[in-house]
Amino acid sequence: MKILQLTDLTKSYGKIKALDKVSFDVPEGTIFGILGPNGSGKTTLLSIVLDVLRSDGGSFKLFEEEPNAFHRKRIGSLLETPNFYHYLSARQNLEIAAEIKGRGKEDIETVLKQVNLFDRRNSPFSTFSLGMKQRLAIASALLGNPDVLLLDEPTNGLDPVGISEIRMLILDLASKGKTIIMASHLLDEVEKVCTHAVILKFGKQITSGPVSEILSNDDLVEVSSNDLDRTLSVLNQFEGLRKINKEGELLVLDFPANKADLSAINAFCFQNGVVLSHLQFRRKSLETRFLELTH
Ligand code: ADP
Ligand code: MG
Repeated sequence: MKILQLTDLTKSYGKIKALDKVSFDVPEGTIFGILGPNGSGKTTLLSIVLDVLRSDGGSFKLFEEEPNAFHRKRIGSLLETPNFYHYLSARQNLEIAAEIKGRGKEDIETVLKQVNLFDRRNSPFSTFSLGMKQRLAIASALLGNPDVLLLDEPTNGLDPVGISEIRMLILDLASKGKTIIMASHLLDEVEKVCTHAVILKFGKQITSGPVSEILSNDDLVEVSSNDLDRTLSVLNQFEGLRKINKEGELLVLDFPANKADLSAINAFCFQNGVVLSHLQFRRKSLETRFLELTH
């Protein structure tokens, strides 16, 4: 089952193309990241899916059908910070939210427990940390027990503890069967939390698919010697090596993640008559890979 299917979705604000023919599918049960730097069209995309904005071109489906109000009832969303009342308690705020949404009055205890705020249900909102406020916002999105959660930058502005609480909450909700679609400008977050992702840059889709594929984390090792051709032919016999690229005086060896063993490479070369003059890891930082993907 596909939760969301976009086909050539396009949206401009005057001359700015916020979305340019974006097409991808969100399979059921995934944590799907929409990753891109600020201004890449993430919020625009979520707003169109939620019927807050209209696209100029292309189309999308929800639950494999033309979108309608019934489908949107199955989606809980957190697009911007809700206006909670500071002097009211968590529970009272959720009662008001349920009233406004017309759903979920009977879920208030459940969602408070889900986001780990049940013990604080009677405390005024004003006494909450930023992380607790954000968890209450997610509780509000969970009213009506939606199958799908749509979250825009759910950890924005939080401290490390708050960030980790939200990430654990997202993983927990997904493990209970909810499909989660979240926008983020943080590669690290998408890598840690999401199973699938699409990468956007200036409204253009760079890539999409399982996170393990699009954010591949190969080990790269640089070697050099005074006889590169011979080194190349020796290393071609080395087991577990994916491929070798020649970069000037260097050979760059590409291994699957965490599979490169420098001592083993050194010993193998030496046994085959090659003395390496250079041998070191070239770990691609997340940053580098993100830049690679978005430039
Ligand atoms: P993101 O959420 O990835 O930061 P947005 O969807 O908010 O990106 O914005 C995408 C682009 O569209 C940006 O260049 C932004 O300045 C522009 N944009 C967004 N909303 C409006 C608007 N209401 N009017 C004009 N331009 C907008
Ligand atoms: Mg945004």
